[in-house]
Amino acid sequence: MGNLDFNNTKVAFAWKTDKQLNKAVFLFRMIGKNSIVKVGKFFTNVALSIHFPIGWAVRPTVYQHFVGGETLEACDEIIHKFAKYNVKAVMDFSVEGGETAEKIDAALQETLRTIQNAHTNNNIPYAVFKPTAFCLTSVLKKAGRKQEMNADEVAEIERFNQRVETLCQKAYDLNIPIMIDAEDVAYQNYVDEVVYSMMLKFNKQRAIVYNTLQMYRRDRLDFLKKLHEDALRDEIFIGVKFVRGAYMERERELALKLGYDDPIHPNKQATDDAFNAALKFSVEHIDRITIFNATHNETSAKYLTQLMAQNGIEKNDLRCYFSQLYGMSDHITFNLAKAGYNATKYTPYGPIKHVLPYLIRRTEENTSVAGQTSRELQLLLKEKLRRTENKS
Ligand SMILES: Cc1cc2nc3c(=O)[nH]c(=O)nc-3n(C[C@H](O)[C@H](O)[C@H](O)COP(=O)(O)OP(=O)(O)OC[C@H]3O[C@@H](n4cnc5c(N)ncnc54)[C@H](O)[C@@H]3O)c2cc1C
Repeated sequence: MGNLDFNNTKVAFAWKTDKQLNKAVFLFRMIGKNSIVKVGKFFTNVALSIHFPIGWAVRPTVYQHFVGGETLEACDEIIHKFAKYNVKAVMDFSVEGGETAEKIDAALQETLRTIQNAHTNNNIPYAVFKPTAFCLTSVLKKAGRKQEMNADEVAEIERFNQRVETLCQKAYDLNIPIMIDAEDVAYQNYVDEVVYSMMLKFNKQRAIVYNTLQMYRRDRLDFLKKLHEDALRDEIFIGVKFVRGAYMERERELALKLGYDDPIHPNKQATDDAFNAALKFSVEHIDRITIFNATHNETSAKYLTQLMAQNGIEKNDLRCYFSQLYGMSDHITFNLAKAGYNATKYTPYGPIKHVLPYLIRRTEENTSVAGQTSRELQLLLKEKLRRTENKS
């Protein structure tokens, strides 16, 4: 264990061979170019709509970099490799938007398998799922907006509740904390209600069920404080995954189109302030709130370590976890792990077709602004140089 230094690229990329490092450099050079990402997104959408196979182009590039593999078993090697560096994996069966009963049922069975798998593997501390994988999205949206539903829709929302309960019950039985991802604001009100009802049922002794708070939303800090009050009243523990939020543009466009107030903070600084304030509040109430700090922001990752130190919380206290997405910010994950913190990689897996929306988000997120080299690319190049100098 050592001091925390996010600039240590030797630690960050120790798990990558020279060949893998070069491949990552090539990839980030490509997705750093705005035009390539835009063209790639266009062709991916066209290919999807006409069922044209694009796996040959995606698999050896973005898929391999940002996705663990097609199946849980295919990810074993990565999980094992991470474990050598004290980094744990959170396996995310990456499907969104349940469109048919068959797809929803298949996703349910697979997610149950991830919980079982976490139970048998000490290197997987959490299970996770996306609510939209378990409900027709049109129905979930109606529930979120409290719109009137017909009998079929009511039956669908009841099935959704049942599916969520099946997952949380399994997680509780096997003692594996389970996180429920946050998606669009349109669904979230309803998801919040369902998640709280699960917390009431399963979080009496410890936080098993976790909600996700997107701190780019203006209402989330107050939501957190209310959640804490409710938890005190109901004598339960709460688990929270904190993120900034991944759907800002889409939320803003929708608010404008439908004529309601933009739910997102007016600027990045306000989101950053809310995120860090939420971490502070949670650390100050750590007896009730378990924190999963999901961010690629170095300041926010470091801030939690400082809050922990100020409040006398051990680095490896199981009430404070850190996480970055597979394929991004290894300098944060691996250096946190090296310094003794609970560091995890959120590792999506699944067939190419299912993970394309996720991959499009990752490439857009890594497109550079005004031609600057992205942080990922800078770090990879720094490590490449370090290795070359060491050999000469
Ligand atoms: C482990 C993990 C799990 C995740 N799970 C989810 C999830 O369940 N749901 C989800 O929505 N996202 C999820 N994300 C993605 C996350 O919400 C962010 O999109 C991503 O991590 C980038 O934010 P950041 O904290 O890393 O830092 P930064 O790169 O510092 O922040 C970028 C974020 O700041 C916000 N932002 C940027 N510009 C503005 C602006 N002008 N005004 C207001 N806000 C702005 C946006 O949220 C943007 O994504 C997850 C991320 C991780 C690492």
